[in-house]
Amino acid sequence: MSDALSPLIGSAPQGEAAERVCGECSLCCTVLRVDALRKLGGIDCLHQDIDGPGCSIHAKRPRICRAYRCAWLKGSFGEADRPDRIGAVLDFVSSGATVQLEIHESEPGSFDRQPRLQEIAEGARASMPVRIRDSRDVLDADRPFLLLLPNGENHRVSGEWSEVTSPPKVSGEPEVVVRRRLPLLERSLRRLILKVRRWRLRDYRGASCSEER
Ligand code: SF4
Ligand code: SF4
Repeated sequence: MSDALSPLIGSAPQGEAAERVCGECSLCCTVLRVDALRKLGGIDCLHQDIDGPGCSIHAKRPRICRAYRCAWLKGSFGEADRPDRIGAVLDFVSSGATVQLEIHESEPGSFDRQPRLQEIAEGARASMPVRIRDSRDVLDADRPFLLLLPNGENHRVSGEWSEVTSPPKVSGEPEVVVRRRLPLLERSLRRLILKVRRWRLRDYRGASCSEER
């Protein structure tokens, strides 16, 4: 799981989707972190072309920028689902032995406002977890996120606690909402992951994450 620009896995390009190009989109240059440039997620890259999408250092851009292709560019989802149009950058990432869909909102609340994003997430959750997060408080290694699970549960994870919303067992009954502390094993794993994340973010101390997008 990562908010950083990285050559993440995704479905193989096929047919017409293999011809996709970024076009007017440059959303990953804003939403994702680029360690090679010490650029935080959620702010425009200094090298984004101010007159339109594109990169002002295209020929010399970091290797990670050359390698990165979001899931849409790799051929997933519909032709019309380009990230700048649906309000999020989507990636399939490996998480232990499984793969999950990561949705990086272009701005807080994109997921709630965009029916198409919700439709994509609902379609994907039948076979894999879907994690949604925005780019607020990107220096907080432990910032909250929403996890949609194949069993129908929605987990709002914040620190070691999770608000779990389960679908009703009988149609017409209300959803069940409970607050749970993560299991001990998960908490231990989480602490380990947090240490690694904090270590990765150490170079960003003092970097601004409040610039205008
Ligand atoms: S988000 Fe995807 S389509 Fe948009 S610029 Fe990045 S790689 Fe290209
Ligand atoms: S260097 Fe260019 S390709 Fe890389 S994030 Fe910045 S604008 Fe995007």
